[in-house]
Amino acid sequence: MKKDQKKERVSKPKRGKRAALFLLALFIVLLIAAALLLPYGGVLNHYFGFDISAKVPALSFLSLGTQKTDVHTHTYGEWEVATEPTCGTDGLARRHCACGAVEARTLFATDTHSYDDATHTCTVCGAKTRSPYAGRIVTFGEYPQTLKAANVNITNTQDARGYYLGSDGAYYAKVTAAAYVHRSIYGGTGAGFNSVALFSGGSQIVYGQVYYFKVEPIRWRVLSEENGTALLLCETVLDSVPFDTSSPITSTYAISTIYNWLTNNFKNTAFSEAEQAKLLPTMLSNSTDVFAPDAKAEESAPFADTVFFLSYADMLNSYYGFSEYPDRDDAERTKAAGDYARARGVYYENNTGNGLWWLRTPRSNSTSIAAADVVNTRGNTNVAAVVSNAFVGVAPAVSVKLTDIGLR
Ligand SMILES: [Zn+2]
Ligand SMILES: [Zn+2]
Repeated sequence: MKKDQKKERVSKPKRGKRAALFLLALFIVLLIAAALLLPYGGVLNHYFGFDISAKVPALSFLSLGTQKTDVHTHTYGEWEVATEPTCGTDGLARRHCACGAVEARTLFATDTHSYDDATHTCTVCGAKTRSPYAGRIVTFGEYPQTLKAANVNITNTQDARGYYLGSDGAYYAKVTAAAYVHRSIYGGTGAGFNSVALFSGGSQIVYGQVYYFKVEPIRWRVLSEENGTALLLCETVLDSVPFDTSSPITSTYAISTIYNWLTNNFKNTAFSEAEQAKLLPTMLSNSTDVFAPDAKAEESAPFADTVFFLSYADMLNSYYGFSEYPDRDDAERTKAAGDYARARGVYYENNTGNGLWWLRTPRSNSTSIAAADVVNTRGNTNVAAVVSNAFVGVAPAVSVKLTDIGLR
């Protein structure tokens, strides 16, 4: 008897172990069965609280833990669409239990937009897409750019623009290299400092020396296009001009000296009369850089013009192909500084060839340190320069019809 009792004490846990193994096997069998039932809307399907027959994931689902302790097990009805999703907006589906419990799930937007061919805007939800012409490089107008080749001789013949006729039949601009070619905005040493200023071909720029630059077609990038009108941004840094040299200095674009230079000097030099007639007025806002905490400038009323600078907000516009973040490097925002702009004193980096260029947005309108936003050599636009600086470059923008730039 004692022996049996001992035996029983030993066998009890053994039996328990067997029972546990049996339960585990049963659970596995049930799990497999449930999995097989899943495609037919089986038990497990409801248990996790989402409908696997729908293609969208559930917004909410019940956890295994709470299900175990619940006294009442919800019995949901069919999913009912509360709000139909569209191409641009999410919809909502709900299902109810008799106890009043409601489950909801998001019906995600289809993203299948109906874009209008002329405006590239969805006729259903208003979403915008980039024009198929965006990013294309075109030429329009001309400006001095590349350093004269050694085998070209300059004649005394000048045209109305003041350019000299070369022995190759092309026209050339005469420039005495500016004092800024060795200057660094980073304080004279460190990254980006040009210890020796070089032209794009690798020859050294000597301060005070006279150079000639070939007048060549200006290259532009199509940023956007709507109803056949394209917004073009100059693909290179063309020149180096202070934003304002009046006294006192101002960062208000509409009254700055660079506004006058751009809409008179540049426009009349870069574009023939026929080309000028093709430039379309574009509405320009001159709002303060609202993202800059030190912004002090006042807004001026929007006005229309045909040759202009882009704004800080433009540089964050993804429809133009730019990063939405001002303080990030963005190759799309960088521009190579041409030889002419280099001799004129623009700040640029020898290693990348990229130059600094102005935007029309004021950063500070204090008369002592009036500053405007710029884009730096890495495409970062969380940068400003005092308006009187002569080492910031020029990359104008214009609007023209696609038919006038050979794209349609
Ligand atoms: Zn319920
Ligand atoms: Zn849409």
